[in-house]
Amino acid sequence: MANRSLFWFRRDLRLNDNPALLDALAAADETLLLFIMDQDLALRAGEYRRAYLADSLAKLDQSVGGRLAVISGSAVDILKEVAARYQITSIHAARQYAPYGVAAEEAIAQAGIKVEYTGSNYAVAPGRVLKGDGTNYRVYTPFFRAWQSHGWRAPALKPTQLNLIQPSQSDRDLPTWSAPVGALLQEAGEAAALERWGAYKSGALSEYDQQRNFPGIAGTSRLGAHLRWGEIHPRTILAELKQSSAHEIFRKEIAWREFYADVLHNYPESSRNYYSPTFAAMRYDEPGEKFKAWCAGRTGYPIVDASMRQLRLEGWMHNRARMIVASFLVKDLHIEWRFGADYFMKYLIDNDVASNAHGWQWTAGCGTDASPYYRIFNPTEQGRRFDPEGFYIRKFVPELAHLSAPEIHTPWEFLGGSINGYPEPIVDHAVERLESLARLAEIKVAKEPSPHQRA
Ligand SMILES: Cc1cc2nc3c(=O)[nH]c(=O)nc-3n(C[C@H](O)[C@H](O)[C@H](O)COP(=O)(O)OP(=O)(O)OC[C@H]3O[C@@H](n4cnc5c(N)ncnc54)[C@H](O)[C@@H]3O)c2cc1C
Repeated sequence: MANRSLFWFRRDLRLNDNPALLDALAAADETLLLFIMDQDLALRAGEYRRAYLADSLAKLDQSVGGRLAVISGSAVDILKEVAARYQITSIHAARQYAPYGVAAEEAIAQAGIKVEYTGSNYAVAPGRVLKGDGTNYRVYTPFFRAWQSHGWRAPALKPTQLNLIQPSQSDRDLPTWSAPVGALLQEAGEAAALERWGAYKSGALSEYDQQRNFPGIAGTSRLGAHLRWGEIHPRTILAELKQSSAHEIFRKEIAWREFYADVLHNYPESSRNYYSPTFAAMRYDEPGEKFKAWCAGRTGYPIVDASMRQLRLEGWMHNRARMIVASFLVKDLHIEWRFGADYFMKYLIDNDVASNAHGWQWTAGCGTDASPYYRIFNPTEQGRRFDPEGFYIRKFVPELAHLSAPEIHTPWEFLGGSINGYPEPIVDHAVERLESLARLAEIKVAKEPSPHQRA
């Protein structure tokens, strides 16, 4: 009987640049490809993420000629049962570093199942970039320098030959989840990821430094979901970046993803808890009607509403927009960041526990390199500055499409601003700003700005 290995797909739904898959193929004459579906997790994930995953698995299955096994259950039970049934001699996978993946690996080790782990979903695995004294970095800029000098491997080659085991039909339970009616999610899968990266690198990437902050311009890569599911590896991207200012800023953004993964690896509780514990004492309001208005994109602040509606339509939101709506939730509505982070996790197809929790904590003033709490975004000014012509607002808030560029950011000031049913502002930013500062004073946080704050 031929030697048989098992490759367990996790957050690496691709064939290119996948060293763990190469190891599985090299270890045996035949390989079984397996994805384990955790139904509880899938149910909690929400329709958008489920639809994206179903699309990604379908594309992966097509790329291997219908030989992907998809089985629901716990990793321990499935690996044990499938390995016995298919007479598998070695199991291979890439490591994961967020709490869910780490817990699965611990349970597998405790059950005595041997898995050979190679690589991760990062250019440099979390935990590897250390200070001279052996401790981890808590601030981004020195992390970035050390991460760069640490370096990473060149992309691995695509396998030349796939000797795959055909799983039985009962082991091919590919999900059929689809996006909710009206949602327009980007295409999933490795081919879509490579195509998107190819088009981006020969197009908008050269102006990333100029355009990445304007949500009305297609200036960012939208590779987040592809990176999250490992449909493309960051190494593949980094290998093609050059030395221009635009490329350097893009490299730095990829490094933010790696930094947050490193921080979460070192402080796993920071996915839910305050990275800066002083802020746990901050007085917040219970989420009620105002929270509902924020979720629905009906706050009466056009840039906030456009952003929240983009999330519900596309399962994605521009980074500048994420900062604006997060600031608005925490500092204008005084609602704790964790409610916003949970809402984002339900809808974002690029949801990533590290980048999401730390993106929120950064905005709420309690994270690494945090934007100082007292630096409060004015949603109207943010709109004027980053959507000056109102392209973004008009696209997602059609009730305001009749307003001119100067009018669109403050419809309440113009006769006819709300003729199409657009709401009045649910709060007065000037008043809530002072309220936020008063709450900050209550917890007596020192007011020095972080030396590494981002613009
Ligand atoms: C409140 C908040 C929540 C966020 N939640 C997530 C999340 O769940 N998942 C997620 O991947 N990113 C998150 N981000 C970071 C960032 O907004 C997204 O990565 C980015 O908007 C994705 O779009 P893009 O692929 O076009 O990014 P690009 O600008 O093209 O950047 C390329 C890649 O770099 C990485 N990246 C860029 N900016 C950041 C950043 N600030 N932090 C970490 N990685 C970054 C992403 O992997 C991104 O795909 C969040 C930011 C904030 C402020």
